[in-house]
Amino acid sequence: MAKNTAAKNRGPKKKPTTDCPCESGDRFNSCCGPFIRRQAEPPTAEALMRSRYSAFVKRNAAYIVHSWLPSTAPESLGELPREGWDPLEIVATSAGGPGDDAGTVEFKTGYIHADHSHPMHEVGQFVRHDGRWVYSGGATPEQ
Ligand SMILES: [Zn+2]
Repeated sequence: MAKNTAAKNRGPKKKPTTDCPCESGDRFNSCCGPFIRRQAEPPTAEALMRSRYSAFVKRNAAYIVHSWLPSTAPESLGELPREGWDPLEIVATSAGGPGDDAGTVEFKTGYIHADHSHPMHEVGQFVRHDGRWVYSGGATPEQ
């Protein structure tokens, strides 16, 4: 008993690893996790967007393809960034709710690849396909 307590208290306190990468403030297992594991479908376009971001952070190519409209998905994703992502910032959303068939989510993030940062600012387009939300493409917002 005493041994276990000592082991637990050793070393610097780590950030909990179950925090969701999408920075919703929820645990991964009660946020994007069930969507990425295909145990549930995201109820809104924003939830799908967040789960795709988390899948990029976790380099889960299968989910990124699964959550893409088949007719607009790329043949191959290429190599996903390994060196990290900037936090996801949801700028604005329109429609994309449980009663909608389409919606947009404007977001900002960025990733580091080969020591260069690649900022992203996109208006993502989402549609319902076979009853579930998928990403159909994105555009640069008008400045
Ligand atoms: Zn999440």
